[in-house]
Order: sequence, then structure tokens, then C-alpha cells
Amino acid sequence: MTSMPKSNGCIGDRPELTIYLAAPRGFCAGVDRAIQIVELALERYGAPVYVRHAIVHNRTVVEDLKAKGAIFVEEIDEIPETDAPIIFSAHGVPKAVPEAASRRRLFVLDATCPLVAKVHVEAARHFANGRELLLVGHAGHPEVVGTMGQLPKGAVHLIESIEDARTFAPCDPNRLAVLTQTTLSVDDTREIIAVLKERFPKLITPRKGDICYATTNRQDAVKRIAPCCDRMIVVGSPTSSNSLRLVEVAQRAGCPQAVLIERAAEIEWNAFKDIRSIGLTAGASAPQVLVEEIIDAFRARFATRIETVTTAEEDVAFKLPRELREAPAL
Ligand code: SF4
Repeated sequence: MTSMPKSNGCIGDRPELTIYLAAPRGFCAGVDRAIQIVELALERYGAPVYVRHAIVHNRTVVEDLKAKGAIFVEEIDEIPETDAPIIFSAHGVPKAVPEAASRRRLFVLDATCPLVAKVHVEAARHFANGRELLLVGHAGHPEVVGTMGQLPKGAVHLIESIEDARTFAPCDPNRLAVLTQTTLSVDDTREIIAVLKERFPKLITPRKGDICYATTNRQDAVKRIAPCCDRMIVVGSPTSSNSLRLVEVAQRAGCPQAVLIERAAEIEWNAFKDIRSIGLTAGASAPQVLVEEIIDAFRARFATRIETVTTAEEDVAFKLPRELREAPAL
């Protein structure tokens, strides 16, 4: 990649600024699929459709779907008796949720990302094989709640930090397996698993890791551009785990200041005085239109040069649920 520009000048009355645009950034295949599920459900079955939890962690996406007729709830007992589809968010749900929906004979469309569903399958497999299960992740995140909720209460132990990894006391150190949330910091998770592995050499770890391709690729791209950037902007919502990790990764990789913002209107321009370069990326649930809005805001104030830095090509796509592939449009 190119190093920072050396000239010190202005073009017209605007200072020069290089924007290093990370690629890949923004929507992943799981988010894309989840949004398509809501949009297609609206198209095929008409409004309203109910969505349990924010379909993906992005306010713009949620507001846009609300305007089209989606109703967002946190729990399915908030949903009245209805024939309308009930959509589970990309983060996945505890087993009790589809069970409750089935008791009420609700029509469910499951937008759980297939990569999260894969972790659920692994959790069930380890449990069936009599293993005690550790889950590396953040307490309260809906994906963690969903994964822990695949098994009976107490069957999964949450490991949030190296300290947890150092102090965890298993029933049997020879019958242990570990899984992880899909949107964690690759580096932090590697360290946590290394501590566990050192303490419990027979620990079964995920063969290829559970952190998904999108999280990994977005972190790699940020690591590449961070050392060249005076500031890093991560477009994403404060509830988005993978976006928050990108802020941390940028700072650790050498960017003096990284900020998470949802919209261009939130940019604190004082923090961008006297800088020559910024890095720009977006979490896996942030639409490209928000990245463009931010580029436009910088273009209005700086003579910008955009350099896209691509560290991986992505061509992942997930199938839609069968009901939507087969249902005729209204
Ligand atoms: Fe799936 Fe990864 Fe996207 Fe989450 S971030 S929805 S696990 S592809």
C-alpha cells in the first residue's frame, strides 16, 4: 500500500486529506441474508412482519425496515396472535424461543446467520459427547445468549477475559471443549484460547476457529491501514460487537485515535483538524450508503484523495430459507 502523502499544501482553500478505505468493509453475507429475509417476507406476505430483536445491529437498517412495515420486538410474547411471519435476528436465539413460537403455532422465518448456527450445532455435539463447554464471548450479547441457550442452564461457561481463562475450574480437565462468539477480536481470542490450551492440553478447540470470515477480514484490513492513518473512523452502531472490535484493533495497530460513528452528522470536526490522513471502515452490519455519506462530508471540507486498500476478496453468499425461495410473491 501507499505511504502517507508528503506534500504539506492545500488545494484551493481546503487542506489535503487522504482517505484510506479498508476493503473488505461493511455488509457480510449473514447480514445481507438477514435483511433480505425481512424484505422478502414483507414482499411475499405483506406488512406487518415481526422481527425478534434488531435484525442486525444497525439503526439505519432497522429504521428503514420499520418504515417498510417491520415491527421489532425483544421477545415473542410481545407479539399478538397472528399469521404474520416472525423473523429471528442474525444473532441467533436460545432454543426456548423457537419452542415457544412453535407452541403458539407462529410462522417463523429464521435469519440466524449460518455461521452462528454452525456454532450452535457444535455446542450440541460437544454436549451430547459429554463434554463441558466453554464459550469465549461477551456477556449479554444476543449471540452469546443464543449460543448458551442451546444447552441446559449451567452447561456452558462463559469466558470473557484472560483472567477468566486463568481461573476457570472444570469438572474434568480431560473432557472440555471451547467455542467462541463469531465477532470477537481475533488476537484477543487467540490469547485466551492459548491460556486455556496451556492449562488444559486436552481441550478441544474449533478446527478452523469460530470467528467468522467477515470479522477476520475486516480486522485484517484495518490492521493494514491503521499505521498510516492519523485517525480511523469505524462506521457502525455501539451495539455492534464486530464494529467495536474494529475500533480496538485500529488503536492497537498504531492509529492514534479511532472512533465509532453511526452517521456523518456525529463527526466531531475539531478532532479532525491538522490531520493528513484518515482510515475508513465499516462494521459488518453498516450499509455502504453511510460510508459514502461520511466520504461526502470529508469532501466538503478537505481536498480528498481516496485510496482503497484491499486485503481480501469476499464471495460468500448464504441461501435464503426454503419458505422464501418457494413462496410466490403477493
Ligand atoms: Fe455471520 Fe459473521 Fe456476518 Fe455475524 S459477522 S452475520 S457471523 S458473517
